[in-house]
Amino acid sequence: MLKTFATAVLDLVYPNNCINCKTAIIDQDYEFSLCPGCWQSLEKNLPPFCSKCGMHLEEITAGIDLCKDCQKQNLHFDKAYSVFIFEGIIKELIHKFKYSNKTMLAKVFAQMIFDFTVNFNFPISEYDIMLPVPLNSARLREREYNQCEILARQLHKYFPLEISTKDIVRIRNTKSQISLDKTARWKNIDGAFKIKNKYAFVDKKVLIIDDLITTGATASELAKTLKGAGVKMVSVLTIAKAK
Ligand SMILES: [Zn+2]
Ligand SMILES: [Zn+2]
Repeated sequence: MLKTFATAVLDLVYPNNCINCKTAIIDQDYEFSLCPGCWQSLEKNLPPFCSKCGMHLEEITAGIDLCKDCQKQNLHFDKAYSVFIFEGIIKELIHKFKYSNKTMLAKVFAQMIFDFTVNFNFPISEYDIMLPVPLNSARLREREYNQCEILARQLHKYFPLEISTKDIVRIRNTKSQISLDKTARWKNIDGAFKIKNKYAFVDKKVLIIDDLITTGATASELAKTLKGAGVKMVSVLTIAKAK
């Protein structure tokens, strides 16, 4: 795209800096505020996807489009979508997003998620409600913001769905799932959510918004609770999927 002389001068005076390595990005049209090198090294989650957890599949054998984990387990949500594999730079960016730099990174992530849904034809407009994964009130006080809610508010610019923040709550201050092994994660999250507004979800299609999906235990527990409240369909949209 042609630039005006004024923008070109501004680029030189106030260059955008890469959100990861701080290199100046001279071309302001470059997407995502990442320098080309950092963008290249992000591990993108590409098709074919597991039809349940959304993880990239190496191959589809005998028509089975489920990963090994999903062939063994029964996750309560219908489908999950993730833009990246949780490795390298994206790991650091999500960490920064949780503990600092929140608004600017949420904008960047929302743009990446939007492009991903366009590129792979994910029918976001079919959904009625975006639901950022609720934090327990003690955790919320400690962190001062729910990063999933900030992300949902940025996503709202692309997907103008209702955002639900008070209709379901986290009633237990569960331990961070990161420190736990697979079995412990399922136990830790069991019974963690409670519906506050029993009319909010009846016959609705809900899109859970989270920064990261690992075993899927948290999203599955949330989906189970929502389905108990009459939800028609629950999917999950995240920035990254951990292997
Ligand atoms: Zn960079
Ligand atoms: Zn899977």
